[in-house]
Amino acid sequence: MLEAERKQGQFPLLEMSHLIYGGKEQFDKFIERQSFFDNHPMFKANHDFFNLSRQDQILLNAERTVVALKQLSLADPSYYTPNVLCFQGIFVSTVHFAMVIPAFQVLASDEQIQKWMTLLKNLNAFGCYAQTELGHGSDVQNLQTVAVFDKQTCEFVIHTPNIEATKFWPGELGLYCEFALVFAQLIVDGKGYGVHPFWIRIRDKDTHKPLSGIEIGDIGPKMGYAVKDNGFMSFDHYRAPLDSLLNRYIKVSRDGKVERQGNPKVGYGSMMYMRNILCDQYTKFAGRALAIAVRYSLYRKQFKDDNKQEIRILDYQCQQQKLFPLLAEFYACVFGSVKIKELVNDNFNRISQQNDFSMLGLTHAVLSGAKANYTYFVANCAEWCRLSCGGHGFAHYSGLPVIFFEMSPNITLEGENTILNLQLARYLLKQLQHIVSKPNAVPEFFKFLQLETAKLDDVTSLDNLVTLLGLNCANLTKYAAQKLMSHSDMKESWDTKSGIALAKAASTFIPYFNMLCFVDTINNKAKDTKQILTVLARIYGITMLLNNMQGLLLKNLLSSQDIRTLQDTREQLYPIIRQNALCLVEAQGLSDNSLQSLIAPKEGDVYMNMYNFASKENSLNKQQVHNGINYIQKMREVNAKL
Ligand SMILES: Cc1cc2nc3c(=O)[nH]c(=O)nc-3n(C[C@H](O)[C@H](O)[C@H](O)COP(=O)(O)OP(=O)(O)OC[C@H]3O[C@@H](n4cnc5c(N)ncnc54)[C@H](O)[C@@H]3O)c2cc1C
Repeated sequence: MLEAERKQGQFPLLEMSHLIYGGKEQFDKFIERQSFFDNHPMFKANHDFFNLSRQDQILLNAERTVVALKQLSLADPSYYTPNVLCFQGIFVSTVHFAMVIPAFQVLASDEQIQKWMTLLKNLNAFGCYAQTELGHGSDVQNLQTVAVFDKQTCEFVIHTPNIEATKFWPGELGLYCEFALVFAQLIVDGKGYGVHPFWIRIRDKDTHKPLSGIEIGDIGPKMGYAVKDNGFMSFDHYRAPLDSLLNRYIKVSRDGKVERQGNPKVGYGSMMYMRNILCDQYTKFAGRALAIAVRYSLYRKQFKDDNKQEIRILDYQCQQQKLFPLLAEFYACVFGSVKIKELVNDNFNRISQQNDFSMLGLTHAVLSGAKANYTYFVANCAEWCRLSCGGHGFAHYSGLPVIFFEMSPNITLEGENTILNLQLARYLLKQLQHIVSKPNAVPEFFKFLQLETAKLDDVTSLDNLVTLLGLNCANLTKYAAQKLMSHSDMKESWDTKSGIALAKAASTFIPYFNMLCFVDTINNKAKDTKQILTVLARIYGITMLLNNMQGLLLKNLLSSQDIRTLQDTREQLYPIIRQNALCLVEAQGLSDNSLQSLIAPKEGDVYMNMYNFASKENSLNKQQVHNGINYIQKMREVNAKL
C-alpha cells in the first residue's frame, strides 16, 4: 500500500537524505551504523521491555551498552544519531562522555589532562557531573557544598552542610560511577572564591562501595528515563587531595595562595558541547516520531467517503494540521542546527587557536535560544505525534511514548529553557543598544533589530516571511526593553516585572534564525528539491507567525486580512505536502528497527503486528491465570458486606 505513496514523491530522496544529515558522508555513516544495530540480536526491537522491572531494564541497557561500544564511540557526538539512541533508554556512560570529558578538557590544566584523559576515555576513571543540589539547580552560584582548604594537610575538605546541599540528579551517580566532578564553593582561609569543580574518587576501586564519608544512592523512579541512575550524594568532611581542584583557571598553592589565571569564560565551552549535541542530534528524534505518525496515518483508515471507500486519516485536513507544521518545523530545526554547529566550531577554533573570544557572546546567545527552542519542539512534536495516532499512540509498541519520555527532560537539563531564553534576551537587549550606539558592532544575525516597519504585498512569500519574523522579534524586544526600563530598580524589574516580555521576545528569535537558515539551504538546490523545501519553509514561517504574532500586532503591522491570507495559504500548501509526506519522513533513512514501532513498518500489516505482540510477546500473558486474581476474590468478599 505504501509503495504507491512512495511513487508520488516529487523530489530526489537521496539528495534530501544528504541534506538532513549534513552531507553524503554523514548519511552513509549513519546507514552503516544503523545496519549494525539492525543486524545484532541484542538490538532487535523489544516491545516487552516496558514490562520489565526497572532493575531488569537497567541491566539489559548495560548489557546493550557493552555490545554497542564495540561498534561506536560515545566520545564522538556524531554517533548520537537516532540509531544509537533508538533503544528504550540512553546508554550507560553518555553523561561521562558528553558532560564529564568535555568539562575536563576545558577546566583541567594540561598536567591534569595528561594524567587523566586516557583513564577517562577508556572508562577506567568513570565519572559523573555532580553540580545540581536538592536546593539549587539553575542558580549555580548559590550551591552550598563547600570545599574548605586545609593548609595543614594540603587537602580540601568537601562537606555537605545541610540537606539542601545534597547533590541530587547527576546521571550515572546512583549506581555506576567511581569518580565525580563535584562543584563546590571554594573556601581558603575563610574567604570564598566561588564555585569550582573538584575531581574526586567517590567509590572504592575494588569493592565499588562509597568511600568513607560519602553517602550515595539512586534518587528513584522518574517520568521515563528508567535506565539512567540519576543519583544523590552527600559528604561528611571528606578529604580530597590538592590536585583534585581542576585548576586551569584557578590555582591554590600548598601554602594557601589563590591565583586566578586565563579567561574563565572558556568554561562556557563544556556547556556548549552538550547543548550543541541537543540541537544537532536530539532534534532527529522529532523526525523519528513524525516518521511513525505519518506512516501510521497512511495505514489507518476511519470512516467512508461518498464512494464507500474508507478514508486514510492522513487525508483529513485536521490530521494534516497536526502533522505538517511539525514536519516543516523538523526540517527548519535540522537546517538551523547545521548553522549552529558551524558557529560553535568557529567559536571553538578562534578561542583555541587565536585566543579570540569575539564570537563567544553571539554563539552562547544563539545556542541558548536554540537549545530552548529545539528541545521544546522535540517534546511537543513527540506528544502531538502520539495524539495523532489515537489509542495506539498511547501504547509503548507504537514507539512514541518513549520518545516523549526520553526527550522531555532535555527541556530542563543543561540549562533550564526559561533561563536560557532569558540569557538570549539579555544579548538581544545589548544588541538593541548597539543598533543606536555602535551599529557596526551588531552581528549580521541581529541586524534585524533595526527593522521598524515593512510594507509587504504578499505576506506569504519566503522573503517577506523572513522580514515579518524579524520584525516580530524586533518589536517584542523593544517592548520588553521599555517594560524593563519603566522601573527604577533594574534587577527587580527583570525578575518580577518584565520576565514574561523578555522570555517571549527571545522565544521569537530562533524561528527567525531558523527561517534564515532554511532559505539559505534552499537557495542553491536543484529544482525539485527547491520546490518542496520552499513549500515546507513557507508552512514553517506561516506557522511561526500564526502561533506568535504579538510583536506585529503591537504595531498594527498585520491586518485581519493578512492573517486570513496566512491561514488560507498554509491550507493550500498542505495537499503538496500530503503527496510528498511519506518521502519527506523516509528521507531520514530510518529502518523499521530504528523506529521501534509496530504501527509504522515500511510495509506490513500493522494490525497483525499489534495482535501478535499482545497475544504472543506480551509477557503478562505468559501466566494464563495471574496471581492478581486472588484479590478479586477478596474484593468480592468486601463488597458482599456492604
Ligand atoms: C533527567 C535529568 C538529568 C539530570 N542530570 C544532571 C546531571 O547529570 N548533573 C547535574 O548536576 N544535574 C543534572 N540534572 C539537574 C538539572 O541540571 C537541573 O534540574 C536544571 O539545571 C534545572 O534546575 P532546577 O531543577 O534547580 O530548576 P529550577 O531552577 O528550580 O526551576 C524551576 C522553575 O523555576 C523557574 N526559574 C528559576 N529561576 C528563574 C529565574 N531566574 N527567572 C525565571 N524563572 C526561573 C524555571 O524556569 C522553572 O520553571 C538533571 C535533571 C534531569 C531532569
